[in-house]
Amino acid sequence: MQLYNSATHKKEEFTTHTPGHVEMYTCGPTVYHFAHIGNLRSYIMEDVLEKFLRYDGYDVNRVMNITDVGHLSSDADTGEDKMLKGAKREHKTVMEIAQYYTDAFFDDCRKLNIKTPDVVQPATGLIDEFIKLVEGLLDKGFAYVAGGNVYFDTSKLERYYIFNAHDEEDLAVGVREGVEEDTNKRSKNDFVLWFTKSKFEDQALKWDSPWGVGYPGWHIECSGISLKYNGEYLDLHCGGIDNAFPHHTNEIAQSESYIGHPWCKQWFHVHHLNTANEGKMSKSKGEFLTVSLLEEKGYDPLVYRFFCLQSHYRKGLVFSWENLDNAAAAFQKLIAKIAAQDPADGPVDEAVAAEYKDRFRKQVGNDLNTALAVTALYDALKAKTNGATRLAILDSFDQVLSLSLLDKAAAVREEQKKQKTASQGGYAITGEGDPAVDALVLQRYEAKKAKNFAEADRIRDELKAQGIEVTDLPGGASWKRV
Ligand code: AMP
Ligand code: ZN
Repeated sequence: MQLYNSATHKKEEFTTHTPGHVEMYTCGPTVYHFAHIGNLRSYIMEDVLEKFLRYDGYDVNRVMNITDVGHLSSDADTGEDKMLKGAKREHKTVMEIAQYYTDAFFDDCRKLNIKTPDVVQPATGLIDEFIKLVEGLLDKGFAYVAGGNVYFDTSKLERYYIFNAHDEEDLAVGVREGVEEDTNKRSKNDFVLWFTKSKFEDQALKWDSPWGVGYPGWHIECSGISLKYNGEYLDLHCGGIDNAFPHHTNEIAQSESYIGHPWCKQWFHVHHLNTANEGKMSKSKGEFLTVSLLEEKGYDPLVYRFFCLQSHYRKGLVFSWENLDNAAAAFQKLIAKIAAQDPADGPVDEAVAAEYKDRFRKQVGNDLNTALAVTALYDALKAKTNGATRLAILDSFDQVLSLSLLDKAAAVREEQKKQKTASQGGYAITGEGDPAVDALVLQRYEAKKAKNFAEADRIRDELKAQGIEVTDLPGGASWKRV
């Protein structure tokens, strides 16, 4: 597959440290509130990437953290811990809200057909590992203690700001955010590895450490969790584009300084879901859009997934209700077209299916072109082959797209059957999905009901001549080709 790598700023052939195997890491949610649908855009696109790699034959180990400590309201190590803020807002303990919003996050993922990663690790469960890392960075001279906190010393690095080609001054956190600077820092780009003495005195969760009772910084958790579960050679790191700097930049600084060799090969960043008025969707401004809100308004969560798939992950996506309505209408039409395919019209032509799958692999494998993957669904519906083959192709594509296409189409067919049965006065016909035969079976039933037995027999003979055998059942009939 060709994949854009934010670390090199170009599209590259995707390669892995161990052939055929991908070590993949994803920055998980900060569980102080519900995920908004912007956050979920990132997780949907990362899910498609993981599934595409599996489809392409890789075996994948995907690891995700849950941020339940240390993520301050400003990336410049100032402000309050987001978890503590959430707990105060809801008059609950930090661990209570962590559990509640972690469950809510995975509920949303389930509704959006996002697979749970192979390893999910809350930060609070791995504090010893982070302490080991901070000790290692101090030993190697990459960190210093000041004012009670431990800081990463960015001046010790040969390269920093890997994702940005801009002037360092523009990107210095303190300057960029216009926030109060931490005077303990030797350089404004240094960042906290471990907090002890700080102005966050009311921090709820604290642990013993060689530097006193305190808690880890946000960046160290992702380095620690990935090094533990992915090992020292990470193939693919994912996250939203806002995490590229400073979070991912700092992860690289920590991990590479600790292990002493290059760490992650490829960086995959999903661009933002935006609104027309407020720009980047966030929890603090504009309408707080969640999966539950979409459901309350009557949208199937998979319509939102379909909406995301129609655009490329490296472009901002503008959310509006009108755009979502357009996606809902297109999705409904697509499902209706799939429902019109006859599963009994077989057998599956494996050669045709293989040709379509091969094309799909090439199209989607070009920097995860999900918009083309959606187009491929319509192409499959037009394939010059039988219904069973078309359905087999769609089912295969859906291993990557996860839109529950065949299940939804089967539900539509079932519903159509029920409606038909109701319009047939409760007479249920089960056959091989041929409307012309169904109509004859129904005519025979109506003739019998009207005591027109000659006509009923004539229809039975007509069906027999076509090789169709009808069996009367309580409340209906079944037919098959013999
Ligand atoms: P958080 O819960 O704030 O740690 O963020 C979870 C994930 O959502 C991270 O990968 C962020 O980069 C990503 N993210 C945040 N806002 C947006 C947005 N508006 N669009 C897409 N992804 C986002
Ligand atoms: Zn992270």
